[in-house]
Amino acid sequence: MNEIAQFCRNLKKDFTPKSKDAKKPVSCWSEKDVLDDKIIDAFVIIFRTKGCSWALNSGCSMCGYFNDSMWENVSDSDLLAQFDTAMNNYSGQNFIKIFTSGSFLDDKEIKPIVRKKILGKLVETADKVSVESRPEFITDEKLSEIKDYFKSKTFEIGIGLESASNFVREHCLNKGFTFEEYKKATKILKKQDVKLKTYVLIKPPFLTEKESIEDAINTVDKIKTITDTVSFNPTNVQRNTLVNYLWNRKQYRPAWLFSVVKILKESKKTAGSVRIKCDIAGGGSIRGAHNCKLCDRRFLDAVYEFSLSQNINVFKELDCNCKEKWLDQLDIEDLGFGSLVNM
Ligand code: SF4
Ligand SMILES: [Zn+2]
Repeated sequence: MNEIAQFCRNLKKDFTPKSKDAKKPVSCWSEKDVLDDKIIDAFVIIFRTKGCSWALNSGCSMCGYFNDSMWENVSDSDLLAQFDTAMNNYSGQNFIKIFTSGSFLDDKEIKPIVRKKILGKLVETADKVSVESRPEFITDEKLSEIKDYFKSKTFEIGIGLESASNFVREHCLNKGFTFEEYKKATKILKKQDVKLKTYVLIKPPFLTEKESIEDAINTVDKIKTITDTVSFNPTNVQRNTLVNYLWNRKQYRPAWLFSVVKILKESKKTAGSVRIKCDIAGGGSIRGAHNCKLCDRRFLDAVYEFSLSQNINVFKELDCNCKEKWLDQLDIEDLGFGSLVNM
């Protein structure tokens, strides 16, 4: 195990889950999304599972999703009880998004029989269901079984590629899979006619602001012919992570919203018909992507609007005096060795 993997593992060694109630999902809610080019309400469920297998091994350097996991086996009946609780709040939305803070296709998190019960029920009413998985759990057998009961309805899988650079994934993120493994999984998705959403991280730890802008734009260029949707996630500082460790020592600053907007504009230009979206967890706070307090809200609203409309004109009027600070950072950060985090 290399140093970054060991570090990520050590951060979790004293971790105790905050919730002991395996019968309740982490959360569920309704939010706006797009289906067949129309803005609709989507229903979101976050299941509380044992946790991501990769996180149980060591985990990604920016990921604190395990804070919501049980860290021990969750029984099939408890998972189905979570599902029932969530469905009490369901009001017939056509698009349902499922998260597990790990991989929905990992049998250690969700057994095939439970997966089938959940998806079988959802496909009765929804036209599209979206889940997430690491590439190693995406197999022909699993997908052909799911597609059997999905028939003409849309099934989407989100993969957290984060960056097309193997160097960034290995040395900054401890992601635990290669670009080639991602591509292999995407071929299986294509064969099985499953849609692909690729998550791309903005501002991995150890990259400068400028490097992270370039990395995100390069990533879109490399995957634009492979993926149906690119979903950008600017890093937010989550508890018990390597990013949190750096942030506490003033060695990490989440992305500027100016950088996020630049990446979205460039990506839309290069990626053509690929849908580009961006969810900014913790946006406008010191733990999330932010500019200055005066302009954060306007930037966040524009990013939200762009994610739904795909129209880059929403960014036209955006400006603020803090832009000078951002430009200064891009200019001089190479000389600052991480000491510019408070700009
Ligand atoms: S980012 Fe995904 S793969 Fe990495 S530890 Fe978190 S849930 Fe697991
Ligand atoms: Zn500002």
